[in-house]
Amino acid sequence: MRYTGLGIKNRYVFLLIVMVFMTMFLPDGYALSEQDLVIVIDAGHGGQDTGVVGPGGLTEKEVCLDLAGRVKSLIDKGLGYRTFLTRSRDEAISLTERSSLANNNRGTLYVSIHLSGFPDQTIQGFGLFYIDQAYLAPGSAEQTGNKLPLWDRQQIPHIKESRRMADTLHQVFVQRFPGQTDLGVHAVPIYPFATLGMPSVLIEPAVLTSPVQEGLLRQDNFREEIANAIYEGIRLFVKQAGSGAVHE
Ligand SMILES: [Zn+2]
Repeated sequence: MRYTGLGIKNRYVFLLIVMVFMTMFLPDGYALSEQDLVIVIDAGHGGQDTGVVGPGGLTEKEVCLDLAGRVKSLIDKGLGYRTFLTRSRDEAISLTERSSLANNNRGTLYVSIHLSGFPDQTIQGFGLFYIDQAYLAPGSAEQTGNKLPLWDRQQIPHIKESRRMADTLHQVFVQRFPGQTDLGVHAVPIYPFATLGMPSVLIEPAVLTSPVQEGLLRQDNFREEIANAIYEGIRLFVKQAGSGAVHE
């Protein structure tokens, strides 16, 4: 026998044990570790920037702030993940500042809450948005006509997960708001998203220019339903990521 010491069989067994032991200490692929999660909740607009104003005077900035607070407290109570609000009062924060706040606070998920607005007041419903490779790839600025600086690339490794998070939230809204129009999931050149180093989505859970939806948005229970749906979408997204759904 050329093999001395450990027999060849034993060597395989030994190697196997070492490999199993090593996997116990390997980072879990792209899966999200729940204790490291920091959910950044971004309430759109604020201060001078009212966002969309409904026909009855309700402003996007105030509804977004209220919804963001509701989502935060649902996560705090229900999931115990760390949460971070880009604004917790009526103040103006630039898009770049929001992005820096999210990155500097080690955000792991970014959910920006806005409301839609259309010239046609009969349009109502919900929509989901994320930024896509087409708006970030080198040379794409001319092709797509967007104005994103090419050095804003932090989102690139997260696009697939951003898309999955948008899809997950979208599915929850389709199930929970069957009476509303599904305005779909769209890849768009939303500026600060290029600089976000984490899966990021923008949700427009209702249309403020619709008098019907503006009426609903004034109601506490409708706001709570929206906050609950966003919470559920985040919960599902994290659970699916944690189960290895994102391993490649
Ligand atoms: Zn907005």
